[in-house]
Amino acid sequence: MPKYEITLEKATCDGIFACLTRDPRFVEDDDGLATIDPDADPVYDATGEESVRLEDGRIVATFDDDRLAETRQAAKACPVNAIDVQEVGE
Ligand code: SF4
Repeated sequence: MPKYEITLEKATCDGIFACLTRDPRFVEDDDGLATIDPDADPVYDATGEESVRLEDGRIVATFDDDRLAETRQAAKACPVNAIDVQEVGE
C-alpha cells in the first residue's frame, strides 16, 4: 500500500470545494476553507494510522491506504492548485 502525504495550502485555498466532491476526506473547516478529516469518508473506516497536522499554515496529512487515486483527483480538480499529493514510500 503506498504511503502518501497530502498538503493543503490554506493561504491558496479559495473555498471553492471542488475537492470535496472528489474525496470525502476534504471537508469545510470553521474558517470557510478546506481541511482534511480522515473520519469524514462514509465508505472507509479510518484506521487510526492517519496523521493530520497544521504546519506553517498548511494542513499536512499522511495516509497509508488505497485512496491515493481519489486524492489525486481532488488535487487535480482544485482550480487554484492548493492541494499537493506525494508518495512517500511503502
Ligand atoms: S478545491 Fe482547492 S480551493 Fe477549493 S476548497 Fe478544495 S483546496 Fe480549497
